[in-house]
Amino acid sequence: MADINIKDMLAKYDKNNLTICTVCSHSSLQIFNGARKEGFKTLGIVVGENRKKVYQAFPLGCPDEFLVVKDYKEILKKTKELREKNVIIVPHGSFVEYLGPKNFLKLEIPTFGNRKVLLWESDRDKEREWLEGAGLTMPQEVKDPHFIEKPVIVKYHGAKGGRGFFIAKTYEEFKKRIKPNRSYTIQEFVMGTRYYLHYFYSPIQRKGYKVSKGSIQLLSMDRRDETTIDEVQRLGSIAELEEIGIHPTFVVTGNIPIVMRESLLPKVFDMGASVVEKSLKLFGGIIGSFCLETVVTDNLEFKVFEISARIVAGTNPYVSGSPYSDLIQTDMSTGRRIAQEIKYAIKDNKLDKILS
Ligand code: AMP
Repeated sequence: MADINIKDMLAKYDKNNLTICTVCSHSSLQIFNGARKEGFKTLGIVVGENRKKVYQAFPLGCPDEFLVVKDYKEILKKTKELREKNVIIVPHGSFVEYLGPKNFLKLEIPTFGNRKVLLWESDRDKEREWLEGAGLTMPQEVKDPHFIEKPVIVKYHGAKGGRGFFIAKTYEEFKKRIKPNRSYTIQEFVMGTRYYLHYFYSPIQRKGYKVSKGSIQLLSMDRRDETTIDEVQRLGSIAELEEIGIHPTFVVTGNIPIVMRESLLPKVFDMGASVVEKSLKLFGGIIGSFCLETVVTDNLEFKVFEISARIVAGTNPYVSGSPYSDLIQTDMSTGRRIAQEIKYAIKDNKLDKILS
């Protein structure tokens, strides 16, 4: 990772005049809305003039100012201009994906969260080392497709939003569907119900669930709506459809709010805290929002199949708060919580502890 000196960058900033900035996509309406509620100026980077119209249609989620670029890569040429505006980037999944992980790591603008997490999150082996090292249970991995003995999900590396993933129950099914020349992981298909848990880790505040350094909060949870797997049964059972060559897909199209039985919450906090503790040891901590993607089995066990290390789009149903964040502070989205953390860090002169 390129050595970005956050202290040097911040030394030139007017801390009383910061601007929260992100790319207009993913969870940006919520991020701008949250920043606005905390009194920050906001700047939205839009790819193409046309997109502005969409954001202007939501006055409370519209950034104060737009920066129009032709494509994401142009952002790299605008870093000086952005720093002159005292910009803090709040990255989301689309920001990282479209800019490209390498460019994101070397982007010379103060960025919310610890960018080093990307190295652990984007490599499936390292991700497993981290999560299993934290004591979490992940779906079993099948190293050799010849040993497929129960339903598995095949995931192509680098596939976004579940695109191309498929289910196989035997080696023959796997062989029929696997695309040549693409690297993949085979995981046990965990039977159960999915919960995507939205946490917030603050290394500088202790008002949540305490960990060795700071605290975590549970702000909300969602279930992703995935086409076609989530509605394919309207047409027939998956087995029936597969026989005639119709295979379910896992492409995310939206998010559904959800709450969980309260008796599972101790385990939810336990998992979040362990992930944070391990991250502190491995790379200095997963700062800010993160999401554990889980399946709860009929034994009420959690299997964690993925971690997202920044704000997820699953927080979008909760612009005005969730049944969990309402019990911390009313009207608090994840976007607003991020802005609050920045505000708190300014007051305590700790910005370098939450930015990278
Ligand atoms: P991912 O890209 O890993 O988030 O996976 C995309 C989607 O595939 C998830 O949102 C789940 O619906 C499903 N999925 C992923 N891994 C598993 C698993 N091990 N068992 C069951 N479903 C899974």
